[in-house]
Amino acid sequence: MRFSDIKGNEDVKRALVSMADSGRIPHSTLFYENEGGGAFPLVMAFLQYLACQNKHDGDSCGECPSCVKMSKLIHPDTHFVYPTNTGSKTGKMAAKDVTSEIYAKEFRELALSNPYFLEADMSAAFGIESKVCDVNVQEAKYIIDKLSLSAVENGYKAVVFFQPEKMNVQTANKLLKIVEEPPEKTLFLFITHNPEKVLQTIFSRCQCLRVVPPPRSELANLRSSADTQSYMDLFADLMKAVTDRDLLAALECADDLAAFDSREKQKAFLVYASEGFRKIFMIQQNLSQIAYLSEYEQDLFTNLASKCPKPYSRKAMDYLNSAAALLERNVNQKILFCDLVNRLFISL
Ligand SMILES: [Zn+2]
Repeated sequence: MRFSDIKGNEDVKRALVSMADSGRIPHSTLFYENEGGGAFPLVMAFLQYLACQNKHDGDSCGECPSCVKMSKLIHPDTHFVYPTNTGSKTGKMAAKDVTSEIYAKEFRELALSNPYFLEADMSAAFGIESKVCDVNVQEAKYIIDKLSLSAVENGYKAVVFFQPEKMNVQTANKLLKIVEEPPEKTLFLFITHNPEKVLQTIFSRCQCLRVVPPPRSELANLRSSADTQSYMDLFADLMKAVTDRDLLAALECADDLAAFDSREKQKAFLVYASEGFRKIFMIQQNLSQIAYLSEYEQDLFTNLASKCPKPYSRKAMDYLNSAAALLERNVNQKILFCDLVNRLFISL
């Protein structure tokens, strides 16, 4: 993958090239994308650029042996880590022993055929669709072992780590030291669409880069639609009621939501609200520069960030997710939105 193969995200590309050219590369970088939003191709273009033996004009050559290995995802110094579980492939193995390496072939096939794959595509490729996946302690040991060996090709060793939020505390503790002080020329490249769920101990050690979703993504459509203003207004009303502790006003917002003329619009509101809470979280982490706030949102979200306690956004997003799942199942909408608003109200 060359940078020129990727559309958009020119700022991120420039930042990556300048990091590589200056040699000032953070040990740990967290790429925050909307799901399937293109962080993976950027990460691969960056690693290919770093390893290329003939780079020019801010891009890799695409033809040297390093580029070829990188583009086939078989470079010996690049390791891929993703959440796993047991499945038909793992036989009698216990879940705690399953690591990414077992699904390496499936991962490579998926990532080569569609570098914009989603979480669900990955579990489908591994044949573990219905299972809750995680990154276990065994995986942490595997990473530490791999990184303790010297690089095969005299360049950087890299761990491309999908969904670091799926690591439990034990795994994170095991990895903490190496993430903080990795061996020389070793990079951690984390990719997440849920930055607020990444354990603080890991998150705080990473340089954060925001990958802007491709123009045709769901969110971009949502932003460009004429309804966005109404979602924003309703979200503002709802959160004003919640932070003013005015339950009646909050429940009126629930009625307005239940009265939307289509379920698609209700879903779009939930997506907007979720994104709103993520922005609040980013502001609270002093990362407002990557929260991509419009002028109108600036005041609204900055104000809310000052009023909501830090763990609130995470809880709120969980409630919104559950509401979105229930919405698919034809439940009574008035009850659904009342319940959602109640939860948002009570948990503040
Ligand atoms: Zn090359």
